[in-house]
Formats: sequence, C-alpha cells, structure tokens
Amino acid sequence: MSPVSATGTAADSEATCPPVGSAVIEVCNVIKTYVNGDTYTPALRGVSLHVEEGEFIAIMGPSGSGKSTLMNVLGLLDTPTAGSYHIRGADVSKLEEIELAEVRAREIGFVFQSFNLLPRASSIRNVVLPLIYTRVPVHERQARVEAALRAADLEESLWGKAPNQMSGGQMQRVAIARSLVNNPALILADEPTGNLDTKTGAFILKTFERLRDEGRTIVLITHEPEVAEHADRTIHIRDGLITDAETAYATDAQLAAAAQVEEPTTRPEAGDVR
Ligand code: ADP
Ligand code: MG
Repeated sequence: MSPVSATGTAADSEATCPPVGSAVIEVCNVIKTYVNGDTYTPALRGVSLHVEEGEFIAIMGPSGSGKSTLMNVLGLLDTPTAGSYHIRGADVSKLEEIELAEVRAREIGFVFQSFNLLPRASSIRNVVLPLIYTRVPVHERQARVEAALRAADLEESLWGKAPNQMSGGQMQRVAIARSLVNNPALILADEPTGNLDTKTGAFILKTFERLRDEGRTIVLITHEPEVAEHADRTIHIRDGLITDAETAYATDAQLAAAAQVEEPTTRPEAGDVR
C-alpha cells in the first residue's frame, strides 16, 4: 500500500491513473464520504478498478466494507466525492442527474437481492419497461423482450405470469431478463442469490456464467466465497479499500478535504453497519 503524500489532495493522486482506454469500467482513486451534519463516514477510501469487456468479476467484503457504496457508484446511482470513473472510455464521474439517468438506463443492467420487480405485472411487462424508458421503437420491443427472456432461461409458460405467482428463482430470471433487454455494457448484481436457496442460487450463477461466455460483462457483489467462486476474478474490499491491489490510501485529512468538511476528532468506525 503506497500512501499518497500527507500534503497531497485526492485530485493529485489522479495523476497516477493509467490513460483511459476502452475497458468497460475504469475507476481511479474513487473516494466516497457520506456527510451527515458534522459527522462524516469514509465509505470508499481510494478505490481503483479496471474491468474488461467479457469479464465476470466478484466483489467480496464483509458487512460495512463499502460494497453497496461501490455498487451505487458503479451503477451511477451515486456520484463519487473524488476520483474518476469512465465507462467504455466516457467520463461519467461529473455528469448531471439527468445525464446519469440516461447513461444508467442505456449502459447498466441491475439485478438485486430482492428482485425489485412489479409484483402484479407480467414477466413481459416487467422486461419491456426499460425499453420504453430508452425509447426503443414499439415494433422492436417484442423481439427484444423475447430474446432477453430466453437469454435468462425463463420458461415460456411464465412469460404471461406475474412475479407474485412465481418462485424466487423464477423471479430472479425475470430480473435478469430485464437487466439484459437494453443490451447494456455492464450487468451489476448485488447479492443476486441472497434470497435464494443454495440449489436455486447455483442455477442462477450458472446463468451468469453462460452470459459471460456470450460476451457479457458482469460485476457481482457478495459476501459469500461460494458465490464468488463462480466469477473469473474476485476483488476483496475492506474498510473502503480494495485489498488485492496496490492502491493509494487516502488519509483522513484528504477524505475530509475531498468532502469539504472539517476533519473531526472522532468518526464512526468504518465497520459500522446500518
Ligand atoms: P456494505 O454494502 O459492504 O455492507 P456499505 O457500502 O453499505 O457497506 O457501507 C459502507 C460504510 O458507509 C458503512 O460504514 C456504512 O455505515 C456507511 N454508509 C453507507 N451508506 C451511508 C449513508 N447513506 N450515510 C452515512 N453512512 C453510510
Ligand atoms: Mg451492502
């Protein structure tokens, strides 16, 4: 671990980022500090991550280590306090909310632990919604939805059924189809098997492996080693820092400067769980 100089700022450490290439994900020295009144919580302390097209990676770490924060940054659901983020070579770290929403809809497919489906709408309806949002012409929608449902291995007899009539595994297949339908650069899955029994979870992970074989890029977040084993590469995060790589470790003073707050004398433990 090579700490950045005591007087340096997080911006200075960007100088160590490699030139921007065409990788799906290029994250460099990302800091995320949550500020609530005069307390601040450093959730990411200088994370750098490079993911090529067609890679299936797992991000593993204990509760409170910063996994969800990283997922939110990668998924453009939240913006970093400092550092850079490029998706397929495009800088997305400084976009306004409206642009973020557009890039998010086009480039990122989400799969969540709790499925996040419309419980009473059919599978087809759940999967078509992202296409409406990205203004895909009506005549293209049906073929795209069917291809996504097939790619997610959802049996055809369930296409007209609603999630509230399905098992967890079937619901997660609908969610995977929804994540694929816009043909995104990246699929982000946050604990996708967390609500499934082991056997069903294993089938879902096989589906992710097949999607990787078909050229999809997948980032899966988990706290279970058996789940991470399905990925090609596992990155470990602890206290807001990727522990596998040589990463610049931002000091408390730099984190405070990045968040533009006074450096407090006490701060919450990084391991605190909400
Ligand atoms: P994980 O997903 O690995 O459990 P999180 O990314 O949720 O970790 O949290 C990382 C750290 O940031 C924890 O200390 C957590 O308490 C804190 N944190 C997360 N979200 C917020 C928030 N909205 N406001 C303040 N602190 C937060
Ligand atoms: Mg989490």
